[in-house]
Amino acid sequence: MRVLAFLDGTLADPDEAHIRVDDLGLLRGDGVFETILVTGGTPRELGPHLDRLARSAAMMDLPQPDRAAWERVTQLVIDNWSGGPEIAVKLVYTRGVDGDPNATPTGFALGMEIDEKVKRARVEGIAAITLDRGIDPGLAGRAPWLLLGAKSLSYAINMAAGREAARRGAADVIFTATDGSVLEGPTSSVIVVRGRTLYTPPATIGILPGTTQGDVFRAAERGGWGTKVEPIMVSELPSADGVFLASSVRKLTRMHTLDGAALPDSTAVHAELAELYDAQYR
Ligand code: PLP
Repeated sequence: MRVLAFLDGTLADPDEAHIRVDDLGLLRGDGVFETILVTGGTPRELGPHLDRLARSAAMMDLPQPDRAAWERVTQLVIDNWSGGPEIAVKLVYTRGVDGDPNATPTGFALGMEIDEKVKRARVEGIAAITLDRGIDPGLAGRAPWLLLGAKSLSYAINMAAGREAARRGAADVIFTATDGSVLEGPTSSVIVVRGRTLYTPPATIGILPGTTQGDVFRAAERGGWGTKVEPIMVSELPSADGVFLASSVRKLTRMHTLDGAALPDSTAVHAELAELYDAQYR
């Protein structure tokens, strides 16, 4: 089941072609996107997702997204959904047609089912590997044109990292910086647990501010946990009480193996945090 709606409020057949071949989103990956989890008809963290869409668009000098139109088109997808209980709604906003001085951005929302592999990983956990991203934590500040921390459509590197993980028998990746610190996953934020405190690296090092990470932290704080946003070294991971990848679609996914070595069993920690996170939406 899929539902496609354009930003002007028209529904369209997702099995038909709609995007021009000279759209800059296609030709250059020149655009931004968001993926929102909808459960029980409610989009999770819609406000923070739309905030981040606007932030990514600003970083790329795209026209400011029309927030009300994005809210409407998201709701249109939800209203026309007749599939499973969860929807992954992808919002895509590109620079529009190449070479047209009056080009208007292309914008659409596509509702999709959640991949079975992702659902299984939420329950069973995953093996991951660390991969060098080749950037230092100060680069994002020094070189904003690199768009580190923008959710741009240019995800070829992120997808390549996933294939490298598969070649090495793992399901996912933690990107690392040149100083040996933890960045993020190719499509997720990293959350580390030590005792009763959750840690995640600061977005200023050139990673996406995760909406799920923020949501998990707030839920955990209400449940009595401490939270800290500070640099994490890769060398700290093997002894942590929990290493998790967080994103809208995968929710909070437990890592049981890193670089081929088993991590301490975090099943109980994961169950408690996943319950605090999910309970808000019941
Ligand atoms: N970091 C990257 C690079 C991502 O692509 C994503 C989501 O796709 C995230 C972090 C997690 O963001 P969110 O929790 O808002 O889905």
